[in-house]
Amino acid sequence: MLRSRAYYDIIDLAYGVPAFLVSNFYTGGINLDTKVFYIDEDNLDINIIKEATSVIRSGGTVVIPTETVYGLGANALSSEAVSRIFKAKGRPSDNPLIVHISCLDMLIYIIGEPISPKAQALMDRFWPGPLTLIFKKSSKVPREVTAGLETVAVRMPDSSFALSLIEESGLPIAAPSANLSGKPSPTMPEHVVNDMAGRVDMIICGKDSRVGVESTVLDLSGDIPTILRPGGVTYEQLREVIGEVAIDPGLVDKDGVPKAPGMKYTHYAPEAEMLIVKGHVKAVADKLAQLAKEAMEANKRVGILSSDETKIIYSSLFDSEQIKIISLGSRESSSTMAARMFAALREFDKAGVDVIYAEAVEEVHIGMAVMNRMKKAAGFNILEV
Ligand code: AMP
Ligand code: MG
Repeated sequence: MLRSRAYYDIIDLAYGVPAFLVSNFYTGGINLDTKVFYIDEDNLDINIIKEATSVIRSGGTVVIPTETVYGLGANALSSEAVSRIFKAKGRPSDNPLIVHISCLDMLIYIIGEPISPKAQALMDRFWPGPLTLIFKKSSKVPREVTAGLETVAVRMPDSSFALSLIEESGLPIAAPSANLSGKPSPTMPEHVVNDMAGRVDMIICGKDSRVGVESTVLDLSGDIPTILRPGGVTYEQLREVIGEVAIDPGLVDKDGVPKAPGMKYTHYAPEAEMLIVKGHVKAVADKLAQLAKEAMEANKRVGILSSDETKIIYSSLFDSEQIKIISLGSRESSSTMAARMFAALREFDKAGVDVIYAEAVEEVHIGMAVMNRMKKAAGFNILEV
């Protein structure tokens, strides 16, 4: 909780101030003076882009807003720059990074194969946007980026600042999510300041991330294009463009071995223990209410992750002083639920809950990505009712 206090001081300091330095705030073995800028993404300030460009060109790290989640960027063509990303996050070095580009020339420079008609059709339809494609890599991409794989993951982000930074620096930018490894991905400025101040050279605070879950990772190397990680572009949308699409079987059960190295890690995890309850809406609500009551009787602080439609059931049963209830939004709007999910997990941590009971989300459209992240956050702790 000491950290939360310091974090509030920083946010208080930051508002209304265009830039400031966070010195030695949170070391973790790294002691960087982090420059933080609050920007208007609809009206970019060229001076801030230039300053971020000089950090990227000199091998430093910049946290950038994107439409999926905030990213922790560095020059993708420099092993040394990329090693700073792994260090800042505490990310295992066998988990490869996504390379972000702003134009086709950059793609051609970093891939070692011709662009297939399917890849072209997907790029035409979904770029810039939350779709990552896997290509054979060229010799220009250092092995640290791809964790020794012969393939490289690439996407073009739909973010004015990210695209301008890539373009201005003339470099592809490797960027994983800008959270400490294992923690929920950051979708709001306060999340990145909290996790990354003192660990990176610069933080650019823009809007809350519009999509709120990471990109879909698609492997086109086999006969059937395969989703290695569900994300912002849905299975249904991919099928419309390229027909048959498979889902990596390693994603489906907790003992499977996923093809994307990163998917094997415990991820997105809040501090609290988490249980997902799945089934008919009414049965789920009844079960959650019962579990919450029992946990409270055992003196646990309880969090409930609900929807707009069911929140009233819990708030009529429990006093808001005793229990933290967060709604992800209406069950009718899976995109709203996606946009709010990671922030909700962090909110539970801030409230210091011991256990989170969560309603399952329907696994269609972007709900597939939401449930994938929720299952990992819960360590596949699911109860069917
Ligand atoms: P993050 O950077 O945190 O958004 O995670 C990137 C995801 O893409 C991880 O799950 C990686 O394992 C996956 N990924 C990156 N590069 C490759 C690749 N060449 N082949 C398969 N998966 C990849
Ligand atoms: Mg990540």
